[in-house]
Amino acid sequence: MGFSVLKFGGSSVADATNMSRVLDIVGGALDGGRVVLVSSAISGCTDGLLACADGDLEREAALMDRHLAIVRRLFTGEEQAEAAAEVMRLFAAMEAAPAEEKVTFGELLSTRILARKLECERIHAHWVDSRELVVKDDLPETYRRIRAAVAATDAAVVVAPGFICCDSSGRICTLGRGGSDYSAALYAAALGADSLQIWTDVPGIMTANPKQVPAARTIPGMSYRAALEMAEHGAKVLYAPTVAPAMEAGIDIEIRNTFAPAGRFTRISAQPDASPWIGVASQGGEICLVGTEEADFDSASDSVQETLRTAGIAPLSVRVDGLNLLVRVREAIELPALQALHRAFFETRPLREVNLFIAGFGAVGKALVQMVGRTAATVAERTGKTLRVAGLGDSRRWRIDLGGVASLDGAVAGDFVDAVIDLAPKGSVFVDCTDSETLYKRYPDLFRAGLHIVSSNRRSFAVPYVEYAALQAAARENGCFFRYETTVGAALPMLESLAIGANSCDEILSIEAVVSCTLNQILSAYGEGPTFASLVKAAQEAGLTEPDPRLDLGGRDALRKLLILAREAGVQLEEKDVVIEPMIPASLFGVPLDAFYKGLEALEPVFAKAQRDALATGRRRRFVAFLEKDAASPLGYRAGIRVVEVPETHPAYYLRGTENAILIRSAFHPTPIVIQGPGEGARQAAASLLNDILR
Ligand code: ASP
Ligand code: MG
Repeated sequence: MGFSVLKFGGSSVADATNMSRVLDIVGGALDGGRVVLVSSAISGCTDGLLACADGDLEREAALMDRHLAIVRRLFTGEEQAEAAAEVMRLFAAMEAAPAEEKVTFGELLSTRILARKLECERIHAHWVDSRELVVKDDLPETYRRIRAAVAATDAAVVVAPGFICCDSSGRICTLGRGGSDYSAALYAAALGADSLQIWTDVPGIMTANPKQVPAARTIPGMSYRAALEMAEHGAKVLYAPTVAPAMEAGIDIEIRNTFAPAGRFTRISAQPDASPWIGVASQGGEICLVGTEEADFDSASDSVQETLRTAGIAPLSVRVDGLNLLVRVREAIELPALQALHRAFFETRPLREVNLFIAGFGAVGKALVQMVGRTAATVAERTGKTLRVAGLGDSRRWRIDLGGVASLDGAVAGDFVDAVIDLAPKGSVFVDCTDSETLYKRYPDLFRAGLHIVSSNRRSFAVPYVEYAALQAAARENGCFFRYETTVGAALPMLESLAIGANSCDEILSIEAVVSCTLNQILSAYGEGPTFASLVKAAQEAGLTEPDPRLDLGGRDALRKLLILAREAGVQLEEKDVVIEPMIPASLFGVPLDAFYKGLEALEPVFAKAQRDALATGRRRRFVAFLEKDAASPLGYRAGIRVVEVPETHPAYYLRGTENAILIRSAFHPTPIVIQGPGEGARQAAASLLNDILR
C-alpha cells in the first residue's frame, strides 16, 4: 500500500485539544494506506525559541509550560511521566545547544509528543530524524536517505519533524521560516506518495487571504503554477518551495483545514485552471492578480485602474508580469486596495459578505441562525449584504467553518473566543447570545482582533461604569461597532431612541421604563383570581423568572436594564445610585425558598389591599424603573425602581403579559416619546440582533 504524507501547521498542533484532532485525522487517513506525519512546532514556538537564543528565559519557561500542559492532557500515569521527562530532556538539550540550533527544537518537541501519543493508542509509529534525512540543497541525497529510513520500518505512521535538516557537511540547520510544508513535499516526493496534504487553519487556498478579505472563497482546484504564483506573491497558506518537488513527482497537493476536516479544500494538480483569474495575493504594497493563459490583460488593466479610481486610490504602477497583473500602491492603503480589487475580480455579485460568530446556542442563538438562513435573499436584496454564520460556540465547544455552519454537530472542545480570535476574518461580527457573567471581559480582545460585537447579554453592560466605558473605548479605538439594542425591551428600539437624543445633545428630563417582563406578567394578571404568591410560583414554573424569583421581585433584572438605559442616555449611573423599593419586605430575602412562599402567601391581604386601593382611584400598579433630572443629586439625576400606580392616561396602564413600555421626556420632546410592545421572546430577540448586525 502507498503512502499519504500529512503535514500539520503550528496552529493545528497548538495544544492538546488540537493535537487530538490531528490524531483523529491521521487515524482516518490510515484507512487508505501508510502515513507520513510531518509536523511544525506548536504555534508561536519557533518565535519563542528565537527569543530563547537571545537569552529570553521567560519565553523559555512559558514554552516549557505549554509543552508540559499538553503532555499532562494527552497522557496519564507512567506514560505521562515518561513524556514529561522527555520534554525536560529536550529543553536541557536546547539550553546546551549552540545559539543557532536552538530554533530546531520546536519540531523535535511536537513530533516526539505526537509519536508517543500514537504508540499509546496502539498505532505503530516510528519517529525519524529529519536532521539526518533532509540534506539542504541536495535532493538526490535527501530522497535516498528518506527512502532508506522508511524502508527500514514497517510502522503504520512515520513521524517526521518539519523545518529542520542538515547541510552537506552535516551541520544542523533549517529550511527557512514556514519550511515544514517543504519538508512534507520532500518526504512525499521521495516516497512517490499518493497524496500530499497540508493541514492548516483555513479552508484551502482562497481567492484572497480571508483574514484581509472576508468575502474570499476557497479555490477548489488550481494548477501548480498558479499555486506557486499565489505563494510567491504573499499567500501565506503555502510555502512556495513546496510546489516544485510535488509537481516534479506528479503528486497532487491538498490544502485542508484541520478545524473543518470535512469542509472545503484546495487541490493543486497538473489540471489546467478553470477560470481566467485565480486569486489575489499581496505583500509590502504589491498586489498580485494571478491570471492564466485565458486572461485578458488589457481589459483587466483598465478595470484595475477604474476600480481603484472609484475607491479613491491612485496606484503607483500597474504592469503585466508573465501571467500576473502587478499593482503597486502605498503600503498604508494596501488593504482597501486589495479589497476593492477582490470585489471587482472575484465577487460575482457586488455583495458584501458578513461572517457571524455566534456565542450561545440556546433559544435566541438558534432563532438567529434560522432567521439568517431564512432571510438571506431578502437581506441581500435590501442591504447588499450576505450574512453567513461562520462559527457557533457555547461555553465548552465550538465549530468554525468559513463556508457556513448550521449547528454544533461536529463541534470541538475548547474556548470559542480564542478560536474566533485566531480564525475570524477582520470585520466579522461576534454575537453574544449567552447569559455569561464574564464573557464581556473578552470583548476588548475581540475588538482588537477586528471583530464587531452585537450582544443580547445584558449582564455584559450592567457592570461598573468604568468597565462599561472601557468596552465602549475598546470598540471605538479599533473602529468596531458595538450594539446591544436587544438587552432592553427585546426588539423595541429603546436604546436607539435614547442614543438619537444623546447624540443631538437633547437633554433627557426623565425616563420611565416598565421593562421587567416577569413583574409585568405577574402584576397584570393579579386581580380577582389567584393569589399573588401563586402567580409568582406559576411564573417561576413557566421559566419566566430567574431560578430564584426574588431576583425579579427585588428589582435585579430591572436594575440591569435601567443601568443600560441611563448610560445610553449619557448618565454615568452606578448600581449604588439606584434606590430600589422591592415588592416584598426585606425579611423574605434571607430565607429558604419554601419559607419565602409561605411568607408571601401570608402577605396576600397586603397585596390585595394595595390592589383594591389602586383600582378604587382608577389606577393600576406597575413596576417602574425611572431616571429623573434632579439638580440636587451628584449625577444631576436620581434613579429608582418601585411600584407605581399609573392612571388610565399612562401608556403602561394597558400593558399586558410580558409587554414593555418606555417614556422618554427630553428638552426636544417634553411630551414623551413612547415606545411599547412585546418585551421578550426568542424571535423578537433574534430580529433585534439581526437589525443590529445590519444597521
Ligand atoms: N516552525 C517553523 C516556523 O514557524 C516552520 C513551520 O511552521 O513551517 O517557521
Ligand atoms: Mg507554518
